[in-house]
Amino acid sequence: MLTHRVNTLSESITIAVSTLAQELKAKGKDILSFSAGEPDFGTPQIIKDAAIEAINNDFTKYTAVDGIPALKKAIANKLQRDNGLTYTSDQIIVNNGAKHSLFNLFSATIDKGDEVIIPSPYWVTYPELVKYCGGSVVKIETQDVSAFKITPKQLKNALTPKTKMLILTTPSNPTGSVYSKEELTALAKVLEGTNVIVASDEMYEKLVYEGSFTSAASVSQDMYKRTITINGLSKSVAMTGWRFGYMAADNRELIQATKKLQGQSTSNINSITQMAAIVALDGKADKDIEMMRQEFKARRDEAVKLFNNIKGVSVLKPDGAFYLFVNISEVSNDSLVFAKKLLESTGVAVVPGIGFGCEGYFRFSFATDIESIRIGIARIEKFIKEL
Ligand code: PMP
Ligand code: GLU
Repeated sequence: MLTHRVNTLSESITIAVSTLAQELKAKGKDILSFSAGEPDFGTPQIIKDAAIEAINNDFTKYTAVDGIPALKKAIANKLQRDNGLTYTSDQIIVNNGAKHSLFNLFSATIDKGDEVIIPSPYWVTYPELVKYCGGSVVKIETQDVSAFKITPKQLKNALTPKTKMLILTTPSNPTGSVYSKEELTALAKVLEGTNVIVASDEMYEKLVYEGSFTSAASVSQDMYKRTITINGLSKSVAMTGWRFGYMAADNRELIQATKKLQGQSTSNINSITQMAAIVALDGKADKDIEMMRQEFKARRDEAVKLFNNIKGVSVLKPDGAFYLFVNISEVSNDSLVFAKKLLESTGVAVVPGIGFGCEGYFRFSFATDIESIRIGIARIEKFIKEL
């Protein structure tokens, strides 16, 4: 009954582990979950107020498929202000979360046999969607010794005449690595003279703790032309459930193609979310964003210190996002078994590294209160000692 296409899809392991943790908790088990890529903060009040106002004003009907003009204007202003990128409204489309942006983008650009370069460890969804669209995944392996970043040489070696796209995620999920302007410029140079598209996933842009954030499209005119900038509000203003994402590209034909696809599949995103998103994009929640960033930074520092005190465990201090990619290769070479046993015996949920293409690690989300982080890491330490 099912298509070959859908049969090739694996379940999202990040969602699977967090759902399991929630289920066990609901059954009364003592669970501490560090699995979800989801801020534990509420959505800022000013954003919620805008949504309530939209409902009370009956702003509850279908809208333009690609987003209302005021929202697209707010996105264009944000991209100009924060990233130095100039896009007009017809170069922007609003989607049901950045995951949907990626789905639309891959559907519109990847044909059977096209190669897509994905730096590894990667966010779980990329290879699955690429395969779903008929593309072939070409991984570039990175390690903690090189801060989990690809080098220009690695990129050059991965290019073939079939390369269609490079996916860049900065800051990265699951490693938290952030590419500097110089590093992005060096990668951009390798792509000059090719037709390779760059999908730049900038979901964690607002969660940078060291150095500064650079948008891939901003490093050169050549890079601007080949890059599709993808972003959303799930992580920066704690709006995971609202479903808001967008992409912006120099290529209007591409944006129009994804609009056609969206018009035949989901139509516009929720009208109420659109009104709320304008407030977030206009900078009205910037104080809340900064408060969350500071809190994440304190948690990161504490968690890194505690993990690096555990014998057999090491972790890099990530420059961004809210994940630690914890190296457990000295104590386990099967992260799936490790994570399963850890959950069963201590109630601590983490995501096995293999889900991100990298054995010998697990992902620990520090988007959880600091007290739970301390207790959780103490349980992990005890578990490892008893292995
Ligand atoms: N990109 C990255 C790197 C992510 O971690 C996520 C996590 N949800 C997304 C995109 C998608 O976010 P959303 O669909 O909630 O906008
Ligand atoms: N992106 C988040 C994560 O990595 C949310 C879950 C998902 O969408 O996969 O945990």
